[in-house]
Amino acid sequence: MSHPLVIANWKMNIPSGGISGWIQSEMVSKNEEEDFDNKSSHFKFMGIAPPISHLTELKNLFKFGLLGAQDISRFNDGAKTGDISADMVIDKGCTFSILGHSERREFYNETNSHVSEKLRICLEKNIVPVVCIGESLEDYNAGKTLEVLDMQLKEIFASISTKKTVVIAYEPVWAIGSGKTPTVDEVNNIHQHIKDIVQSIAEIEAISVIYGGSVNCENAKSFFQQTNIDGALIGGASLNGKDFLDIYNDFLETF
Ligand code: PEP
Repeated sequence: MSHPLVIANWKMNIPSGGISGWIQSEMVSKNEEEDFDNKSSHFKFMGIAPPISHLTELKNLFKFGLLGAQDISRFNDGAKTGDISADMVIDKGCTFSILGHSERREFYNETNSHVSEKLRICLEKNIVPVVCIGESLEDYNAGKTLEVLDMQLKEIFASISTKKTVVIAYEPVWAIGSGKTPTVDEVNNIHQHIKDIVQSIAEIEAISVIYGGSVNCENAKSFFQQTNIDGALIGGASLNGKDFLDIYNDFLETF
């Protein structure tokens, strides 16, 4: 079964209003068992990836949804200054990790091969991987989107065989934080293509493809209405708790 997800990626930011201000009253349980169960079910497709330093506070204040890491090390342990391992984020309550975000690729020279190593660690350790792929503006303008995505997918997924859930985030690099997006039809068709390619190069039983790049309260619903868009990865608009909750509720309405 695929895993729909709407993820807040706070990056290296504290959300507006701080963590307690970010959490909306609708997100808090009244502590009655029934309310707790309802909330758990309501928020089961919401993922939040704060900076690691904020995980414990967030977990204490907001008991629902899924906690995630923005990245994990491609090593399991040892002398790797600055890295945080899969086991360490699991200890903090993370159940998913974003991998290969374009900012990791741009500022830390992460390659598809690094992303593939991290993917294998996630699958081994039972962390849901959220693998980011996407083309540059230059590639988009040159009509090379599918070519670039195919290459990324082949380098990351070749010979993967798993019954576990894999989430792929299609994030055109030019759409991240720019206010620009491809059309919903373009994204929908690309997601179908991604599913087909991954099925042809790897054995994965459950694949979800979510979209990331300037998703906001105005455009979210039109993406979620497409059959091949299984959720979203949201940066800027996720820093405001109310906006993120509105987007999440739009997702639930179209689900
Ligand atoms: C992102 O960084 O993954 C992202 C999609 O950011 P934004 O929503 O700000 O475009």
